[in-house]
Amino acid sequence: MSATRRPLKSLGQNFLVDGNIIDRIIQTAHIQPDQPVLEIGPGRGALTVHLAERAGRLVLIEFDHALAAWHQDQQKENQRVSVIDGDVLKVDLEAILSETAQKWNVVANLPYNISTEVLFRLYAVHHRLARMTLMLQKEVGDRLAAPPDCSAYGVTTVLLGLWFDIRRAFVVHPGSFHPSPKVDSAVLTFIPLSEARADVGNEDVFRSVVKSAFSMRRKTLINCLKSAEFAKQIDCGELLEACAIDGRRRGETLSLEEFAVLSRWVTEKVAA
Ligand code: SAM
Repeated sequence: MSATRRPLKSLGQNFLVDGNIIDRIIQTAHIQPDQPVLEIGPGRGALTVHLAERAGRLVLIEFDHALAAWHQDQQKENQRVSVIDGDVLKVDLEAILSETAQKWNVVANLPYNISTEVLFRLYAVHHRLARMTLMLQKEVGDRLAAPPDCSAYGVTTVLLGLWFDIRRAFVVHPGSFHPSPKVDSAVLTFIPLSEARADVGNEDVFRSVVKSAFSMRRKTLINCLKSAEFAKQIDCGELLEACAIDGRRRGETLSLEEFAVLSRWVTEKVAA
């Protein structure tokens, strides 16, 4: 059977084999009766069987064609389950989640090689989500909870922090997977906020301000901002002065509120 083929390292296939951890993830996901659920990378179905029992609707996105075909066969009698044989980084998540006005519960043991990119994609559809329970490399999870001015603080911390309350539920050791990854993992919950934590003006501008501020960690904030697309339209020295932020600081020392101030100013100038 295809689901027993050797795991592919290139697809980050570290399958969960620990029943206790699987149960804890399902408990942590708090799936409500009739709630739509999205699972990214169902793999050999360790979580999927439990999700299919509980969800009102279940959509699976799996990039490994053989595993996607196996799930299609497994679920062919179950009208509530759809399998998308595709790349989560390329599919139109907004279109998939707009199938229902109900908010989605996302559950995933993410492939570690693309977990940060997946987080950015999920951030972009935060308004469609009720909750996320994600297994990440522990180090990536630690970054999401890092305070400013420490090495772990980065783009994901600031962007995801704008719209989600993020908590680490528990740590998972390598022995819970087959094959075992080299590092510890962590299960995190992401609860979308009803309002953003700060007024950032235009969110595309915010993303671009944050990404440019972290683009060259050893350079000053002003030099980083100058490399951004918006710097073609505005003077970054004027921006920093107007926002009372010292351009000699490093991007990673800025708080969410300081990023928001910069973003609001750029939003106004670009729109003007
Ligand atoms: N959910 C299963 C489990 O917990 O045992 C498998 C988790 S495994 C860490 C990651 C899964 O994501 C694999 O099944 C892999 O094939 C799939 N995957 C990898 N890259 C993907 C992508 N770009 N889009 C969708 N699925 C992907």
